[in-house]
Amino acid sequence: MTFQELNIITPILKAIEQEGYQVPSPIQEQAIPVLLEGKDVLASAQTGTGKTAAFAIPIIQALYHQGQRLSSKRLIQALILAPTRELAEQIKESFRNYSREMSIKTEVIYGGVSQRNQEIALKKGLDVLIATPGRLIDLMNQGLLTLSDVRFLVLDEADRMLDMGFIHDVKRIVKLVPEERQTMLFSATLPKEIMKLANELLKNPVRIEVTPPEAMVDKIKQSLYYVSKKDKTNLLIDLLVNPKLESVLVFTRTKHGANKLVKELLSYGVKADAIHGNKSQNKRQQALTDFKAKKLRVLVATDIAARGIDIDELSHVINYDLPETPETYVHRMGRTGRAGLSGEAFSFCCQDEKNLLSAIIKHIKMDIPVVENKFFNEKIKTGNVEKQGLKSCDIKPNTGIKKNGISNQKKNNSFDPKRIQNNKKSDYRKSEFVKNTRSSDGQYRNKKNSK
Ligand code: AMP
Repeated sequence: MTFQELNIITPILKAIEQEGYQVPSPIQEQAIPVLLEGKDVLASAQTGTGKTAAFAIPIIQALYHQGQRLSSKRLIQALILAPTRELAEQIKESFRNYSREMSIKTEVIYGGVSQRNQEIALKKGLDVLIATPGRLIDLMNQGLLTLSDVRFLVLDEADRMLDMGFIHDVKRIVKLVPEERQTMLFSATLPKEIMKLANELLKNPVRIEVTPPEAMVDKIKQSLYYVSKKDKTNLLIDLLVNPKLESVLVFTRTKHGANKLVKELLSYGVKADAIHGNKSQNKRQQALTDFKAKKLRVLVATDIAARGIDIDELSHVINYDLPETPETYVHRMGRTGRAGLSGEAFSFCCQDEKNLLSAIIKHIKMDIPVVENKFFNEKIKTGNVEKQGLKSCDIKPNTGIKKNGISNQKKNNSFDPKRIQNNKKSDYRKSEFVKNTRSSDGQYRNKKNSK
């Protein structure tokens, strides 16, 4: 199927050609014709499936067709509600990209930043508004906008809005949108509450389901590392010696954990930054931009902040901490393997996380291959390698100068089980690769000695 066959108008076809899209994704194939007919849609699809274009293109096309009817004062005709600022920004970019050949105005509003510029944009008038629920309500309460002209309503990542406690805000907002409208609800998962909301908001919706997220996990090469909590950072640094880990999204459970890990990574010369809810919107956006531009190799994120992040060329996802719910594991996997690319994901599991791991394996209905590694267990650390039948790590740590300046390992420091076997000293944990590292200023320093 081609985009032309979906009856998309020329100015949009031109724009998507410039985006480099060749054929519609499955969600686009299914949703665009239905939405062009004006029907409501309930779609289960997550970020990475091309869902934004699936709803943006039909909305832009409808606005274009009634272009002549657009009054000189632009009125908000399409409202897209999104759970996070990052997702809202991305949706705005998509709308602007797909409508670049026509005069449609898209603006975005979200909290965590001054409302001044948003106020100015609203006063100037616009056609498409992307908003997070809280800030939208704030601005409505101040009388700065009205939703009485909205004819297209999209709830994007509805399950995440539910998780983040926005559902009451969403319901309040929807009450202010005219009944005479086309409504679209997109959600990665469809728990009971979302189905209930869908029943309230949608009229005879066409139900669309693209590859269920669990099936997507199949495409991603997954590896599991058993590692003690205190060795997780060492293991990560070790893995990062492999230059194939070009663009890595690392998940930690807490904001504090994310900051701490970034500090450690920076001390090893790994370009890294964190995104989480305690960071200002500007800092989060900057980190994301730098990561996409490959100025940062590692982005450390908590789940909520990472939701909806759209990074095409993410090479690896690393679960530094396993997620609390198995569904989140699937969502995290969905960050890599985008747009048909094969992705790779590593998960670290310490003793406390074994229950979480069992739940994940049950949920995805597959085993995650275990990679034996030198941080495998205490006995190995004491040098008793033979008994453990330790295999060498599949990634050789620190075998030379790597372009990101993580390691410059002396020849005899490369990982060699035999050497460890002969090593009578028990402190193998801080093996030499930790000692001879190069910091970001290019200086070698000895972690142990520098203390
Ligand atoms: P989304 O699921 O909307 O977040 O989109 C994920 C990524 O896929 C975005 O970077 C889009 O630009 C890209 N994309 C959307 N539709 C297509 C398509 N038909 N072909 C190639 N890439 C696409």
